[in-house]
Amino acid sequence: MNDVLIMGGGFAGLAAATQLAAAGRRVTVLEKRPVLGGRAYSYTDQATGDVIDNGQHAMMGCYTETFGFLERIGAADKLAVQTSLRVDMLDPTRGAGAISCPPLPNPFHMAAGVLGYRLLPVADRVRVLAGGLRLLMMKRRGDTRLAALTVDGALDLLGQSPAARRAFWHPIAIATLNEDPAIASADLLATVMVRAFFAGKDAARFVLAKVGLSELYTDDARRFIEARGGRIETKAHVVGVGFRGDEVSHFELRDGRRLTASAYVSAVPPQGLFPLLPIAVRRSVPALGGIEGLTSSPIVSVHVWFDRPLLAGRPFVGFIGTGTHWAFNRDVIGGRRDRDGGYLSFVISGARAIVDDDNEAIVARTLADVHRLVPESAAAVVRHTQVVKEKFATMAPTVAAARLRPATVTPFDNFVLAGDWTDTGLPATIESAVMSGHRAADVVTARLAALGSRGRETRAAS
Ligand SMILES: Cc1cc2nc3c(=O)[nH]c(=O)nc-3n(C[C@H](O)[C@H](O)[C@H](O)COP(=O)(O)OP(=O)(O)OC[C@H]3O[C@@H](n4cnc5c(N)ncnc54)[C@H](O)[C@@H]3O)c2cc1C
Repeated sequence: MNDVLIMGGGFAGLAAATQLAAAGRRVTVLEKRPVLGGRAYSYTDQATGDVIDNGQHAMMGCYTETFGFLERIGAADKLAVQTSLRVDMLDPTRGAGAISCPPLPNPFHMAAGVLGYRLLPVADRVRVLAGGLRLLMMKRRGDTRLAALTVDGALDLLGQSPAARRAFWHPIAIATLNEDPAIASADLLATVMVRAFFAGKDAARFVLAKVGLSELYTDDARRFIEARGGRIETKAHVVGVGFRGDEVSHFELRDGRRLTASAYVSAVPPQGLFPLLPIAVRRSVPALGGIEGLTSSPIVSVHVWFDRPLLAGRPFVGFIGTGTHWAFNRDVIGGRRDRDGGYLSFVISGARAIVDDDNEAIVARTLADVHRLVPESAAAVVRHTQVVKEKFATMAPTVAAARLRPATVTPFDNFVLAGDWTDTGLPATIESAVMSGHRAADVVTARLAALGSRGRETRAAS
């Protein structure tokens, strides 16, 4: 029998599997798709031969669980880490500016970065800094108002002007929460402030993968697991979770197999898990029944190959006041400065309003935004485009969602939950996924150790 069955081969499932394998447990990962990687994967674009991500993923220096996972599987050197936080921004009227933080002790690095941000009038820079520090204190002191506030509601409370929202708060909130600030949770934004921007200069740095997302972690994780006697099954679609009494009895696969183990981990999104749960379980366990109420927020990525390099060698740039939020310079990030073309990847977060539009319309709007903010792009020829729509990109981080995120442990002794959407206290990100996987592995390890010692006690008594 398997020690542990893990349903889902994304960051959460692979983090759990590798931690358990490192502890000597026999794990089997069941992934329904032909490839590992879940919502963070890459593939080769047929027209250009370039490896493209399903959407640009940015990490930060505070992603300690993620770095632990990547170090475990030997992949940490595939990351490029900023020396200190620098975010270049483009504004249609005020031009280019940057939040550039010198290597000073916390919070002086952020103070210097915000006070030097030329896209805001000086009075607004001071207001942003004071607002950021106040939000930080509210979170640290456990101010209960945060749980009920949206980002915009909190910005009202903090006296932030429209200009400060447009050029500072909204770009940060949309990028880190993937949601409209009018409905996104202020508590999660405060968490980002505490963990990333005001946790020291190293925590605030941006971290990007130098390779395609799949190459970043899936093959190395597979090798790590298999080298320790574990198994990865792709095209292994779990269609049912069997329950007996206060335990899970098996995972049922689409091909008819019923697999059993000492412990079971679900590392799939809520909309994947909910249909697998028997109605009686959904009704009797509010924490599991409630996950039906979690909704998703889409991300649309527009990949454009121009005939010349753009963005003046910058790895990424934030757009202010446009429907397109970020431009990532894939040639610079991937170390392809030798190329004559400019492969840029544009991100539209919280993209509910456009996710169902035609690709042509999405590309046209993106290019109009680019021409507005990067005027030299108007003379560039577009050689090729690709649009990737992720309708279920991340859990919508609304105020209501916070109450519905379930914990790692369930009332079923041998069944635990992982996934970026579970109650890690973080926005639904890679770091949340990996943290949830590690927590699941901790709970399973403790349970298997207890089972082992109980087995030894039983043998000793007989
Ligand atoms: C376009 C885009 C951009 C993003 N940008 C960022 C970013 O910049 N920074 C950041 O930190 N995060 C970002 N994220 C979020 C990040 O990708 C996710 O938080 C993370 O990948 C979630 O990992 P997970 O393992 O929890 O879930 P998933 O990646 O969804 O993994 C779940 C796996 O379970 C499998 N599965 C589902 N049902 C079953 C079943 N019944 N049987 C077997 N297998 C099943 C799925 O196929 C999938 O592989 C982004 C996401 C998207 C889509």
